[in-house]
Amino acid sequence: MSVTKELVLKKLSSVLTDESKDSSNIVEAGLVSEIVIANDRVFFAISTNKEDVDKFEIVRKKAEEVVKSISGVNVVRVSLTSHDKRPVDLNRNNQAKKVNNKQSVDGIKHIIAVASGKGGVGKSTTAVNLALSFRNLGLSVGILDADIYGPSVPKLLGIKGRPNPGAGKKIQPLTAYSITAMSMGFLVDEETPMIWRGPMVISAITQMLREVDWGDIDLLVVDMPPGTGDVQLTMAQNVPIIGSVIVSTPQDLALIDARKGISMFQKVNIPVLGIIENMSTFVCPKCGEVSHIFGKEGAMKEAKKSGVPYLGDIPLEMDIRIGSDLGKPIVEFNPGSVCSQSYNRIANDIWLKINSSEKLQIVPNIVYEE
Ligand code: ADP
Repeated sequence: MSVTKELVLKKLSSVLTDESKDSSNIVEAGLVSEIVIANDRVFFAISTNKEDVDKFEIVRKKAEEVVKSISGVNVVRVSLTSHDKRPVDLNRNNQAKKVNNKQSVDGIKHIIAVASGKGGVGKSTTAVNLALSFRNLGLSVGILDADIYGPSVPKLLGIKGRPNPGAGKKIQPLTAYSITAMSMGFLVDEETPMIWRGPMVISAITQMLREVDWGDIDLLVVDMPPGTGDVQLTMAQNVPIIGSVIVSTPQDLALIDARKGISMFQKVNIPVLGIIENMSTFVCPKCGEVSHIFGKEGAMKEAKKSGVPYLGDIPLEMDIRIGSDLGKPIVEFNPGSVCSQSYNRIANDIWLKINSSEKLQIVPNIVYEE
């Protein structure tokens, strides 16, 4: 018997919002997001208030358990989303038409951009780990390193070597950890400074996107160049990006630039799928004391202020830095760590949003309630 949404919802209607009271179930209460089924894998989110997140962890586990009991289901990923109930219009300014108007890329179903207002906030590290988390969801994933001036994907994925020209005209990308990757870093030495002007950069990015044999890819993660200049704007206008993810550290200076990033994407009608706060907390490995080196919850507050979803936070974690330098990303090499779980949860949430927005493309003007 194949797994259906109806069956999943039926199972979920046995999960109460609060076991201790005579409460409604999570389906009745409207807390269950769009359900995505891919063969034997089921993905969905349960929404709750930020204050109830701990309490809802029990509900989340229970929901996972009941769906897993359905015959034919092998993997269940349930994430808790703690956004405001404010409606988010992923179809803002008729976004659907815009994506469709841009020339699609052979073999690639969806493209998301991972961007940041400034460099050094962990954008590339986040893009690579998210790509691995998307792969963990069972998706075929590619990553395009569009950070021409500071390509770091080769190092982060531990890829050495040069892409070959394929049998046809297209370039064969390289692969690591089952992720297909293309980067300027494959073509020039790490030490060689790129002194190209904007139009040359745009032409190089366009070639890396359109003249590469990506194969069949569910999701291409584009690691954008930092900032909001001409290159970023031209890219956003020409690449069929379904949504963007903004990475910021929590301090004011980074957030000012993150805000510029949000408004750039909004200007070119690309929905902002959400903000990720990177390096949010630091737990001292010796004494366990938690400190907020770059400030506290800045990105979360910014998300609220800008009216875009908050996707979650990633701590400042020594293992992330060490793994990045060694080309051994944490999601691959320490999948059980808190950080990897956070990346997985965020990827799950983004994938659900992408699937919801896909629906909206067919029926414009529907507002998606988170
Ligand atoms: P960007 O792409 O924004 O320029 P990178 O991803 O290259 O930033 O990260 C900059 C540095 O910060 C790298 O050395 C990386 O390993 C480190 N880094 C990124 N995120 C974290 C984190 N959450 N914890 C610890 N180090 C991190």
